[in-house]
Amino acid sequence: MNISEKAGNVAGSETLAISSKAKELKNKGFSVINLSVGEPDFDTPDYIKEAIIKALKDGKTKYTDASSIIELREAISEKLKKENGLFYSPSQIIVSSGAKHSITNILFSLCNPGDGVIIPSPYWVSYVEMVKFAGGIPIIVKTTKGDGFKVSTEMLKNAIVENVKGIILNSPSNPTGAVYTEKELLEITGIIKENNLWVISDEVYEKFVYDGLLHKSIAQFIPENTIVINGFSKTYAMTGLRIGYAAGPIDVIKAAARIQSQTTSNPCSIIQYGALSAMTSSNDFVSNMVSEFEKRRNLIVSSLNQINGMDCPMPEGAFYAFCDVSGVFNEKIKGSSSLAEFLINEAKVALVPGAAFGDDNYIRLSYANSSFDIEEGVSRIKEAVSHLV
Ligand code: GLU
Repeated sequence: MNISEKAGNVAGSETLAISSKAKELKNKGFSVINLSVGEPDFDTPDYIKEAIIKALKDGKTKYTDASSIIELREAISEKLKKENGLFYSPSQIIVSSGAKHSITNILFSLCNPGDGVIIPSPYWVSYVEMVKFAGGIPIIVKTTKGDGFKVSTEMLKNAIVENVKGIILNSPSNPTGAVYTEKELLEITGIIKENNLWVISDEVYEKFVYDGLLHKSIAQFIPENTIVINGFSKTYAMTGLRIGYAAGPIDVIKAAARIQSQTTSNPCSIIQYGALSAMTSSNDFVSNMVSEFEKRRNLIVSSLNQINGMDCPMPEGAFYAFCDVSGVFNEKIKGSSSLAEFLINEAKVALVPGAAFGDDNYIRLSYANSSFDIEEGVSRIKEAVSHLV
């Protein structure tokens, strides 16, 4: 069968592929430490599970409004006002089957064929494929450790060519952990406004900020240009339940709602009730998890930095260590993909090569895992790479 050119050009998600390889090895009886996919090892809070079970028992198993039940969009509207200082009415919000789905809907709503979309690199693995799938052209803007992995006005200026329509901004960032300050966001708003670009602001890691930092949304300054993306997967440890949302200018949200109504209809009805209970309950679960992750971040970064040839900057947010491993490369292991393969084969440690995120000198390790797994994983890596350098 001849598949379409579009489908042929789309690569599968590398984070998910590596994680399934790790699971497969585990099922075969190997002792595998999986630091690849990013998902909290905490269990979903009971109050969320109970709300979902109750919804099921109450018969909430039928279609809902395509954009979600109104109560959930009202709760999100309230959250955005209270926590982020953003003002969106429920009609400016659409709930989808995970933030990934939200971003795809928004890209489909905004991209004409050939439109350029700026993606600062290192980037989350799916952005490039999503833009291509929506008919756009990814324009990669490289950032480095020296820039704190953040884009500046100057970098954006150089990337703005005729057909550029927008930018995907991700703060806190997956994979680098970079968190834009209010001042840095304000600085880049000038060039965004001047060129009338839209911003897809992916804020799924908003709660995962450390050292007393605060998450800020660029929508605070340029709401008319911005579509805010957020989700429940990370914050409430419910990755498999697939629920996220987008908030933005009404025309964009209405377009996304039309697309969603013709594709998936509404997000899963009973999970919407789980999300509603997450929004309307105390935040203690989230703050406990985040303070635990801060300890694990310190543990993984200091352990990685004890390995010869590795250099891991301290991430300010999210839950990934993004480690420069170029110092361990040799004639055989020349890049991040071959190093990741070597480590899964030799040390049974699964992690994601930086090449998937646009920087081949790095590897990404998720520290949303137990301290035991982090210590064991890094010690296996240390032993394995000692044979390389
Ligand atoms: N966003 C997470 C990660 O980067 C989950 C997997 C995925 O959807 O790519 O590992």
